[in-house]
Amino acid sequence: MFGPIIAKPGSSRKNKTGSWRIESKPKFLQSNCIACKLCILICPEGCIEGSQKNTFHCDFDYCKGCGNCASICPKQDIVMVKQE
Ligand code: SF4
Ligand code: SF4
Repeated sequence: MFGPIIAKPGSSRKNKTGSWRIESKPKFLQSNCIACKLCILICPEGCIEGSQKNTFHCDFDYCKGCGNCASICPKQDIVMVKQE
């Protein structure tokens, strides 16, 4: 009667969380990456992808700008930059 219900609780993948980002977003420099995958492991949104060195990136539809990936990267290959 009211159309499809699309908001299911607890599923960030279905509800884009990118709009939560208010201050900064990660920039993947893709220059010193050693493909350790720590960034993938620590991302609370599971929105980072990559397999080879210097191919890692995130999906900004889901990234909420928490900065975990930049903090954990052992090569400082991810930096947080101001959100435009
Ligand atoms: S800033 Fe947070 S949500 Fe965004 S890619 Fe990094 S770890 Fe994931
Ligand atoms: S944490 Fe840094 S070095 Fe490791 S895979 Fe991610 S971008 Fe590459």
